[in-house]
Amino acid sequence: MASIVRLYVDHALGQGQTVPLTRDHAHYLFGVMRLGVGAEILLFNGVDGEVAAEVVEAGKRGGVLRCVRQTKPLQPPPDLWLLFAPIKKARTDFIVEKATEMGALRICPVQTAFTNSERIRQDRLQAHAVEAAEQCGGTFVPEVAALQKLGAVLDHWPEGRRLMFCDEEQVGAGLELDGDPGPWAILIGPEGGFSPQERARLAALPFATTVSLGPRILRADTAAVAALTLWQTALGDWR
Ligand code: SAH
Repeated sequence: MASIVRLYVDHALGQGQTVPLTRDHAHYLFGVMRLGVGAEILLFNGVDGEVAAEVVEAGKRGGVLRCVRQTKPLQPPPDLWLLFAPIKKARTDFIVEKATEMGALRICPVQTAFTNSERIRQDRLQAHAVEAAEQCGGTFVPEVAALQKLGAVLDHWPEGRRLMFCDEEQVGAGLELDGDPGPWAILIGPEGGFSPQERARLAALPFATTVSLGPRILRADTAAVAALTLWQTALGDWR
């Protein structure tokens, strides 16, 4: 049996609420998936949990759904941000997709001394997060923030948030995260790693904990998934 369609919509999802469809969603549901009036799909909006909704109008360019019942409450991830230096396009897309699946609350691209890319397509990355949430059964979509300089992010660091600084120079050292349940952020560097100045500043920050991700140097996209896994297992919602 084909799995039931799940869509993220930017619309309130109370019981009995009707939800107008965008042209793209109408095309997908009625053109691609060949659904018709009476079919049931799942909707979430990042706020109201997940609801089952029934097609009440189906057209080529639009349509209407009606929310029937809630199927899941909102399950937001722990208060964990992923800070990462954007790399090549496909690998950056991968990081956003995986961070959504692994349960990050916010995804923050940061420009570091050795960051290869100066620009990101924030809207495209946000669309990847939406798609990943649709696909993994999540009820929450992490916000993809605008690209900021690492230095500026550290200058305006929110009080009380800890930082798990993944430093490739710690390769082979242990991993020690104390039991502080958060809020936290993970920091992953670019392909070129961190500059000595960045490393010195990060190591001296009172809210930062320097960690190793094992005895081998990981690519940045692998490192992001590994760090999220470690954090989720030690302090997050996998426990
Ligand atoms: N070019 C660098 C490696 C960068 S790897 C070098 O050869 O040293 C990209 C990022 O992944 C790093 O900045 C770090 O944040 C993370 N990373 C990769 N392997 C790691 C490890 N074993 N321990 C901690 N962080 C690691």
